[in-house]
Amino acid sequence: MDGSFSSFMRGCHDERDSVIMHGMSDPAALRPLLAIETSCDDTACAILAYDGTILAEGVLSQNDHAILGGVVPEIAARAHLDALPALVQSVLAKASLTLADIDTFAGTTGPGLIGGLIVGSSYAKGLALALGRPFIAVNHIEGHVLTARLPALDANLQFPFLTMLVSGGHCQCISVEKTGQYIRLGGTIDDAAGEAFDKVAKMLGLGWPGGPALEKLAAEGRDDAFALPRPLKGRKGCDFSFSGLKTAVSRLIEPQGSGALPRQFAADVAASFQRAVADVMADRAEHALAMAPHSTALVVAGGVAANRTLRSALEAVAERHDIPFIAPPLRLCTDNAVMIGWAALERLHAGEQPHEIDVAARPRWPLSERQPATALS
Ligand code: ADP
Ligand code: MG
Repeated sequence: MDGSFSSFMRGCHDERDSVIMHGMSDPAALRPLLAIETSCDDTACAILAYDGTILAEGVLSQNDHAILGGVVPEIAARAHLDALPALVQSVLAKASLTLADIDTFAGTTGPGLIGGLIVGSSYAKGLALALGRPFIAVNHIEGHVLTARLPALDANLQFPFLTMLVSGGHCQCISVEKTGQYIRLGGTIDDAAGEAFDKVAKMLGLGWPGGPALEKLAAEGRDDAFALPRPLKGRKGCDFSFSGLKTAVSRLIEPQGSGALPRQFAADVAASFQRAVADVMADRAEHALAMAPHSTALVVAGGVAANRTLRSALEAVAERHDIPFIAPPLRLCTDNAVMIGWAALERLHAGEQPHEIDVAARPRWPLSERQPATALS
């Protein structure tokens, strides 16, 4: 590695991509929209036809943050900048399109890490300006909550529905009433679920991100080995809390001293922790459905949705309520640009106008605020 950001990206990124071949060859008929997502540590680009068909997509994950034990915002922002030009070109090539064929540009302008948001949204805005095309500013959370309506999922999901968003940075429960109308029923009062998985994994001596490694280890353990707390379980509303659970795990581990933990002990802790999170999630989903009884489906989104124990706990809740349980494929659950493109299209389909080019990137952007801020506001 020569120390440059390009070698950082080349050496450490894992590219996931897919292309759906489209029969129509006339880009004007497809009205392609190009979307960019850079709110955290994944650099993503996707092109969707106006009807939501995915024409091409690509994600570069900045795996090297693993060495540092978490996402370093400044490094992430520079890496996005380094990755975007080639990523956009490769996604265009996969869709057999050129920039001139793109009808509309979209970019995540919040919430997230401000450096990355500025890089990605400025890139999308620059392309829109240069080509004289409209720009749509997309809320990252809105992207997650609308993903389940993508035509590719074939779920025919109608409003209103309930989404549990559980990722490394977010943990909230949202009633999706219609495009642009979201009721946040609850959220975490301390850590996000993925953050708790990552921190507990670290205590167990596993790598980062810890969620997948913890799930793997938990498969070797007994989930009733330790009686861990279920924070807020049974409590009204659907807020979450994970810090007490995390502290309980650290108290369990402390007496073991500083060396490597015995494998079976670590596996039992992992399984007991995972069970506690799943129980709490299921309880919170039950409460959320009581708060939004009109929900037509229970949807899970975010990286933690990969966890099989959590999925089956939520699936059981949906079954009890006789509504479908929808878990989009993992590549659409974690950060990606398809969801950003689709959220932009949902806006257009609902008759909304594109944004002015002076829309500002913002680290905090509650879903209840429909319009993004402008640079001058
Ligand atoms: P963010 O971008 O907000 O960090 P992502 O949607 O990229 O979140 O998801 C990453 C998070 O998901 C990490 O915290 C990771 O540990 C967690 N995660 C991924 N797979 C699993 C799994 N199988 N079990 C539990 N957590 C998981
Ligand atoms: Mg991520």
